[in-house]
Amino acid sequence: MSTQNNVHETASVKEYFAALWAGISSTVIGMWITFRYVWAVKPVSIEYPEVREVLPERARMRLFNDVLNCISCTQCAMACPVDCIYIASEKLPEGSEIKKTSNGQAIRLQLNQFTIDTALCCYCGLCTTVCPTECLTHSHDYEFSAYTIDTMKYDYLAPDIIAWRDRIVKV
Ligand code: SF4
Ligand code: SF4
Repeated sequence: MSTQNNVHETASVKEYFAALWAGISSTVIGMWITFRYVWAVKPVSIEYPEVREVLPERARMRLFNDVLNCISCTQCAMACPVDCIYIASEKLPEGSEIKKTSNGQAIRLQLNQFTIDTALCCYCGLCTTVCPTECLTHSHDYEFSAYTIDTMKYDYLAPDIIAWRDRIVKV
């Protein structure tokens, strides 16, 4: 009987030390992985907003239309896969001075509305690709969160939106 007890005790002592070893070794392995990241891997987070990401050159952020160079051709609206660009224009009155865009194209129509509903926009960039005067561009401005969805519809003829030009870093 006492020999049987001794065998059981020896087995449980072995199990105890095996479990203890497993606990210690897994802790050491876990801490080694943690310390390796602490010492060897550079942090991926930044102190936003004091520090800002430098975006890739071709990043597509908020759209901006420099309406002074828009010829109301509607190519952007036709290319848009979600129909979120709304343009209204009319012929210039007879005898009006024909202005030119910065790349020399004649502006023959009076632009009365240029609105983009950015809540619908999927940032595909097709509208900017087809724009013949390159007045419609994706800026690098990504700080335009809004509380309500209706405020995400931008009227590019509105003075406050035109004022973006001064703030937006153009690509
Ligand atoms: S970027 Fe937006 S507005 Fe331009 S075509 Fe794509 S979905 Fe339409
Ligand atoms: S494609 Fe360019 S020029 Fe034509 S309506 Fe759109 S923004 Fe204006």
